[in-house]
Amino acid sequence: MRIILFSKALYANWIYYSPDRLLFDAGEGVSSVLGNKAFAIERVFLSHGHTDHITGLIGFINIRNSGMGDTEKPLYIYYPKGNWRISELMNYIHRTNRNLHYSLEWIPLDAGQRVSLFEGQNERYLETFPTVHSGGETSLGFNVVEVRTRLKLDYRDLPQSEIVNLVRQGKKEEMSERYPKKLFSYSGDSIPLDPTVVEGTDILCHDSTFLVEEERDAYKHATFSEALEVALRAGVQEVFIAMHISTRYKRDLERVQEQLHKEHPKLPFKVILVPPGRVFTYE
Ligand SMILES: [Zn+2]
Ligand SMILES: [Zn+2]
Repeated sequence: MRIILFSKALYANWIYYSPDRLLFDAGEGVSSVLGNKAFAIERVFLSHGHTDHITGLIGFINIRNSGMGDTEKPLYIYYPKGNWRISELMNYIHRTNRNLHYSLEWIPLDAGQRVSLFEGQNERYLETFPTVHSGGETSLGFNVVEVRTRLKLDYRDLPQSEIVNLVRQGKKEEMSERYPKKLFSYSGDSIPLDPTVVEGTDILCHDSTFLVEEERDAYKHATFSEALEVALRAGVQEVFIAMHISTRYKRDLERVQEQLHKEHPKLPFKVILVPPGRVFTYE
């Protein structure tokens, strides 16, 4: 299981990305749903400071201190620099958790910053990108990136036998190049992302609060169609996960899915509309 996700706009939103033991946002109920998996998490990335994305932290930090697991495992919480709501919560958590068994570190991030997740041959890092939410709310989006190796363009069309020959002659280094591959991208709450920031990602989790454009009264959040357009323009490789869907649409998801199949019978990726208020898993 790669992803466990809960999403209900205004109530609670969080994503557990298991390959790198990351939690994106921490809406209420995150620790009660994750149970012992809370101990697997090493890093939390907060997209912004609205209640539906952060209030689960209080329970989560407490469970990591007293539940049945490694209560000494350090925890790092990353958040958009200067977000005052998160600073207030941070103070509250510090004042009410004076006896933590583990080290808890809060790390502010700007857009365009990197956090190393794994060092080695297949190096992985997280990178932040700017998002646009409501006025005055500092927010960030996130990509999980793996550095991979591939043949340089000049060599890609050569027959296999010739490539093998060149490698035997010790030319492997000069024939190959390192490149960043995005594995996972999360918009947080945002108007449609600039597709270039999530280009070629395998998994795109994008704000899709509104299914009907006319029901959005201000230019905030994204509609499902806008988010789909981002996924298409970004060349998403595997799946577009539409999340943060308003509960008003909970009976409309099947209809939207059917309509989508009619309008776009041959999409190059899977599309999943996450039902608001249900725990959703993705293998
Ligand atoms: Zn939200
Ligand atoms: Zn929000």
